[in-house]
Amino acid sequence: MSDRCLHMNFSAHIAVNRIEDKGAFAADVRIRCTECGLPFQFLGLAPGLDMQGARVSLDGLEARLAICPQGQAPSPMDGIAINIGFKGKRHS
Ligand SMILES: [Zn+2]
Repeated sequence: MSDRCLHMNFSAHIAVNRIEDKGAFAADVRIRCTECGLPFQFLGLAPGLDMQGARVSLDGLEARLAICPQGQAPSPMDGIAINIGFKGKRHS
């Protein structure tokens, strides 16, 4: 049973949704152990919906991730480049 399973193999189900009236996109992710079938909870996400970020369903089993086509929003790499630029100016 699940209490003896080491949870070594997983399946992930991802549903990508386009929210018609808002022009927004979201990826809903669920993960479960393929051996015992136990679903996995997502940690560290607030419950609810956020079309600009990441949330989780009330039972913690579905991560709801806001997504967009590449280039339509700043990437984490863009933020790093900006911070490096500010540091360089302060030291010069
Ligand atoms: Zn398992």
